[in-house]
Amino acid sequence: MRIHEKNYWLDTVQTPPVQSAHDLPDAVDVAVVGGGFCGLSAARALAKRGVNTAVLEAETFGWGASCRNGGMVLTGMKLPAPTLIKRYGLDAVRKMYATTIESIDLVEQIVRGENIDCNFSRCGHLEVACKQSHFDGYAEAAALVEREFNHRRRIVPPKELRGEIGSDIYFGGMVDETSAGVNPACYIAGLALAAQRAGACLHDHTRVEKIETESQSGARRFRVRTSKGACTAREVILASGAYTTEATPALRKKIIPIGSYIIATEVLPADLAHELSPRNRMIYDSKHFLYYYRLTPDNRMLFGGRAAFFPETETTVRKSAEILRRGMVAVYPQLRGTKVEYVWGGTLDFTLDVMPHTGTIGDGMHFAAGFAGHGVAAATWFGTKLAGLVCGETNSNPFAAIPFPAAPIGLRSGHTWALPLAGLWYRILDFFT
Ligand SMILES: Cc1cc2nc3c(=O)[nH]c(=O)nc-3n(C[C@H](O)[C@H](O)[C@H](O)COP(=O)(O)OP(=O)(O)OC[C@H]3O[C@@H](n4cnc5c(N)ncnc54)[C@H](O)[C@@H]3O)c2cc1C
Repeated sequence: MRIHEKNYWLDTVQTPPVQSAHDLPDAVDVAVVGGGFCGLSAARALAKRGVNTAVLEAETFGWGASCRNGGMVLTGMKLPAPTLIKRYGLDAVRKMYATTIESIDLVEQIVRGENIDCNFSRCGHLEVACKQSHFDGYAEAAALVEREFNHRRRIVPPKELRGEIGSDIYFGGMVDETSAGVNPACYIAGLALAAQRAGACLHDHTRVEKIETESQSGARRFRVRTSKGACTAREVILASGAYTTEATPALRKKIIPIGSYIIATEVLPADLAHELSPRNRMIYDSKHFLYYYRLTPDNRMLFGGRAAFFPETETTVRKSAEILRRGMVAVYPQLRGTKVEYVWGGTLDFTLDVMPHTGTIGDGMHFAAGFAGHGVAAATWFGTKLAGLVCGETNSNPFAAIPFPAAPIGLRSGHTWALPLAGLWYRILDFFT
């Protein structure tokens, strides 16, 4: 069977997700740039408060990372808690950690409240240790999370690991029951419909090309020029993630776009699927250059990793299929003869300090970015928070207080020649740590 160089999730959404609005209005209260989790959740929350909102999406809704990801709705942050505490202090990190739990609750509330059929399930996640030293660190990490953040993670010793995963290559694991899984494309479709039902205008194939400020009767307004004409907005929310363009250079120079790739196998027999992942967890390993994997609702193995560090191109996607298949068979020798039917790639929005950021940029445009591998929940939450802020809520987002460093030249969007060096650095770290 031929491998489809296309996204399995998009194959599961039967109908065109949203009816895109045709004509761009002359003026709106809020223009949202980008129609992924962040932009659509902001638009939904704004429209529910009666704010006249337009979402401007260059491609189709969810076209960016939001329809390309693993659908893992995860607790915690990319960096380990001790690193975060050293950097920001215990108080701030407690607040940050609490938001990661709250953000999963928010996804669940939206899914249930808006009746979104997207296989959302609190199946928990499993982190597996690639080295004995990694497993040794799990007990300390779980104790710290329980003591300081009042959140429980369970250690899985090697002899019990078969109850969690049908692989013998790991040194043990750690389970977090709060995490969830979702079909991201169905979630995006539901989120877009919910935003539209609430009154937001959704404009796909509308690329924002330039944003300028002007004065109207003494009040600042943004003039948003797009491929479909221009519109004026009282406020602008930038939710363009790793796909941020030259239209917003101040944000673009802060984002490090990193490629990640996924394969999906043919549908597995039910007993084999159960053997591979008896509790249907969202699974990732303990390396920097990590693999992440899960079963799909129809029992395919979906297996992802940073097979190439560069953002997706036809070449990197094709090469990634074989690299990831080898990785998958190393984890699960049972899948040696299993066909891979899908491969696709996407770009993650990293930042230099590996943290999510939010605030205002340029001439006062609101933004949120830097969700890395936690954006399903985090981008939903940050988008909703931005909507609150625009409506006059006080800023309670703990990530708003941290400085947002620029990305070094060579790692910035459009100029990513140094990315292979960053990839090499992480491989070296994986070898020695
Ligand atoms: C392969 C892969 C696997 C991942 N796995 C997971 C996972 O399992 N769990 C998890 O939590 N996270 C995961 N992530 C990360 C997660 O998908 C992202 O953090 C999240 O989707 C970011 O959402 P967003 O709305 O901020 O950005 P995006 O979804 O990237 O949306 C940005 C949108 O802005 C649009 N845009 C950009 N510039 C303009 C412009 N000038 N005009 C108009 N539109 C514009 C783009 O077309 C794009 O659609 C993964 C990412 C990838 C790529």
